[in-house]
Amino acid sequence: MIIDIKAREIFDSRGNPTIEADVFFEDGAMGRASVPSGASCGKHEAVEKRDGDARLGGKGVLQAVAAINGPICDALLGQDGTRQREVDTALISLDGTDNKHHLGANAMLAVSLAVARASADAQGLPLFQSLGGTFANTLPMPLMNILNGGVHADNTVDIQEFMIAPFCGSTFKEGFLAGVEVYHALASTLKSKGYSTTIGDEGGFAPQIKGGTIEALDLIMQAIEEAGFTPGDEIAIALDVAASELYRDNRYHVDGASYDIDAMVKYYDKLAINYPIFSIEDAMAEDDFEGWQALTTALGSDLQLIGDDLFVTNTKRLKMGIERGMANSILIKPNQIGTLSETIDTISFAKAAGYSTVISHRSGETEDSFIADLAVAVSAGQIKTGAPARSDRMAKYNQLLRIEESLGSTAGFARFMTT
Ligand code: PGA
Ligand code: ZN
Repeated sequence: MIIDIKAREIFDSRGNPTIEADVFFEDGAMGRASVPSGASCGKHEAVEKRDGDARLGGKGVLQAVAAINGPICDALLGQDGTRQREVDTALISLDGTDNKHHLGANAMLAVSLAVARASADAQGLPLFQSLGGTFANTLPMPLMNILNGGVHADNTVDIQEFMIAPFCGSTFKEGFLAGVEVYHALASTLKSKGYSTTIGDEGGFAPQIKGGTIEALDLIMQAIEEAGFTPGDEIAIALDVAASELYRDNRYHVDGASYDIDAMVKYYDKLAINYPIFSIEDAMAEDDFEGWQALTTALGSDLQLIGDDLFVTNTKRLKMGIERGMANSILIKPNQIGTLSETIDTISFAKAAGYSTVISHRSGETEDSFIADLAVAVSAGQIKTGAPARSDRMAKYNQLLRIEESLGSTAGFARFMTT
């Protein structure tokens, strides 16, 4: 039974305020969770409550903290915290809005995740097992963002994320280590060309290259080879275009050129022919349904097409996308929707429709590694949580290493799964 909830304002990896919540059960169990924050946010995401006053550029979360310590705590006191769905339903009805603007999705998620942790503690189970049951054993393939652009970096690269995915290795650790080798090789490649190895928000390098997308891809290809791997067979490439950020006047603006839908589809087709790209996220803008349909019809059988801003981890948006033939994969960010139960429902819905699922961090992160346990609990198949650099990103990878170790010989490694 929940006997107390206490929230506070803490700070994320960009130095912006965010929320941490502690939940206490009568039996002495306790759970703590904090919430991340995006930079290239989808316009259909649940509302992140910020104070909007003179303090900290308006980004303070004291109102959201007060909502937890006041009305949320009052509503949940005495509830059975091991019944996650009931807790989340109580949060949703207390908020009472479609987009969670009353309490704030950040306030709600901090509590929802902290309750899940307290529940695992009460049951004496690791979080991934408390969430996923005794059969949860599959580690996700990591999509490691080793070169940052777009709004995540102050550089000349338009595409937001260039990721590598290990198709090699028979364990998570082996696959992850291959990615780490390529990350270090990329540092050497950049240095040898006189580029800086300064990094962006997600730990990937953010060089001031002049040749745009093509030069970024060539640098990564060189790094994969220099690390001793075969591009494509052993290490493949994934992109997050974050195309909503590149869409103006019904056209996509990339590397100084502008494209209509047809030209954009051809642009991606050419990239995927010339480079071992297996996955593209947010290749079209969040409300460009025509673009998404054209893209999925043309390339959906060859490429994983992930909807992030398109679906915002929302079952309703996903259902609409499935009906209209948009994308074949979904990015899962719990803070886009605001409760753990809704996150799990969206994952189940995606899987039932044959869409692959990729659990994701945000560009502004904390040390909380909840998504690592979540990825194993739901057999997500893939996780994207940045470069193997900076502790906010490493917290998730390190937790996956611990989980794999604890599973011993019963651990599985998803590598690439289409469903
Ligand atoms: P965000 O970026 O957290 O800044 O939204 C991550 C993504 O677009 O996938
Ligand atoms: Zn994205």
